[in-house]
Amino acid sequence: MGGTRILQCRECGKEYPISNNYFCEDCFGPLDVLYNYDEIKWNQNIFKERPKNLWRYLDLLPISNPKHIVNIEAGFTPLIKADNLGKEIGLKNFYIKNDTVNPTFSFKDRPAGVGISMAVEFGLKSVGCASTGNLAAATAAYAAKAGLPCYVFIPQGLENEKVAQALAYGPHIIEVEGNYDAANRLAAQAADTYNIGVVNINLRTYYVEGSKTLGYEIAEQLNWSLPDHVIVPVGSGALLHALCKGFEELELIGIIDKREVKISAAQGHGCAPLVESFKNNLNKIIPIEHPKTIAKSLAIGEPGDGIYALRKIREYNGLAEDVTNEEIVEAIRLLAQTEGIFSEPAGGVSLGVLKKLVEAGKISPDEKVVCLITGCGLKATEAVVGQLPNPILVEPNLEALAPIIQM
Ligand SMILES: *Cc1c(COP(=O)(O)O)cnc(C)c1O
Ligand SMILES: [Zn+2]
Repeated sequence: MGGTRILQCRECGKEYPISNNYFCEDCFGPLDVLYNYDEIKWNQNIFKERPKNLWRYLDLLPISNPKHIVNIEAGFTPLIKADNLGKEIGLKNFYIKNDTVNPTFSFKDRPAGVGISMAVEFGLKSVGCASTGNLAAATAAYAAKAGLPCYVFIPQGLENEKVAQALAYGPHIIEVEGNYDAANRLAAQAADTYNIGVVNINLRTYYVEGSKTLGYEIAEQLNWSLPDHVIVPVGSGALLHALCKGFEELELIGIIDKREVKISAAQGHGCAPLVESFKNNLNKIIPIEHPKTIAKSLAIGEPGDGIYALRKIREYNGLAEDVTNEEIVEAIRLLAQTEGIFSEPAGGVSLGVLKKLVEAGKISPDEKVVCLITGCGLKATEAVVGQLPNPILVEPNLEALAPIIQM
C-alpha cells in the first residue's frame, strides 16, 4: 500500500501534491486524485485475502497510512442477479447492486468513509457535511467512530427517519432555512471560517474516491468485467462521475479488458437539471430553483458535478431520463415485491427510469444491466405509506381468516 498519489486539476491538468486544497489555484477547477497506475498489480488472487469491505481497494484510495482508516465495515455489498424483476421489466441479464445494506443504510458510507479518514490523515479537529439526508447519518457515524466533533448542515423538510437516525450518532445538526443549496452554501462558509473538514465540500476530492468503489465492486463481482449498462441515480452528479473514474482506472491498471459500458442518469421529475440539459443538447446545467420530488436525497437544484456527469453520460453513450413521483413509488413496490429489497425513493428513481427506457426500446432485452439501489426504504417511509394498503384488521379467531387466506 501507500503508492504514489498526486492531485490533478480536472479542467487544466495542473498537478499538485496531496493536501486538503480542493480546487486549482489557476482556474478554480476541482482536483482529482491520480495514482501511479503502473505500480498497481491487481489480479483475482490477491483479493481472496482482503477485507470484505471497501478498504479491500486501499491501493487505489488516497489514504497513505492505513492507521488513519476509519472503518465501519461499509461496502462489498451484494450484486444480485435479479431474475424475477428482470422478467417483469423485460431484461434477461439483470443485476441489482444493493447498497441499502451498508452500515448506515445508504451508499454514502463509501464517500464519507474516505472523506473522514482523510480528515484524520490531515489532522483536522472537526468534520461535517452538507446533506440531502443520507450523508448526514454516514458522516455522523464515521465522526462518532473517529471521536471527532461533527457539524451536519441539512435543508428543511427532510424525512423524519433520516434526521432521527443522524441525530442518534450525536452530531450537531444544523437545519438551514431553505433548500439543499442554501445548506450547502452555509456549510462551505463554515468550512472556510472554522477549518471544518466538510466531506463533500473541502474534502470532496477524497469523498468521490469512496464513491468509485461501487464501480470496482461491480467489476469484481462480474469476475473483473463490466456490464453493458449501469443506471445511476443523480443528485450532485458526484457518484456518476466517480463511477466512471473507477471504471477508467480498472482499464488503466489492465484488470479489465475494454471499457465498453453505457452509463445512464436517473432523476426525479421536479428536480432533473441533468436530464433537461441532456435532452436539450446543452453544454451547461440550468439550476432548478425549487426542487420538488419525493426523491429528496436527489433534490439538488445546483448539482456541483452536474456538468462533469453530463459529459460522462455522453462519453459513455448513455441516456438520461426522469420519472414522476407515481412512477417512483410503483418502482419501489415492484422491487420489493419481486426481489425482496425495500428501497428509498432514489432507488425507485433508478429502477423507474430503467423500466421506462426498456419500454421505450432504448435498452435492449439482452443488455447486461446493473441498476444501483443506493438507499434503504426505512429511511423514507413517508413516500410510500399512503400508497400501500392498510393491514387487515381481524378478530382473533380462525373464522375471521376464512375470507382472507387463499387456498
Ligand atoms: C446522495 C445520493 C445519491 C446521489 O449521489 P450524488 O453523488 O449526489 O449524485 C443517490 N442515491 C442516494 C440514496 C443518495 O443518498
Ligand atoms: Zn486548473
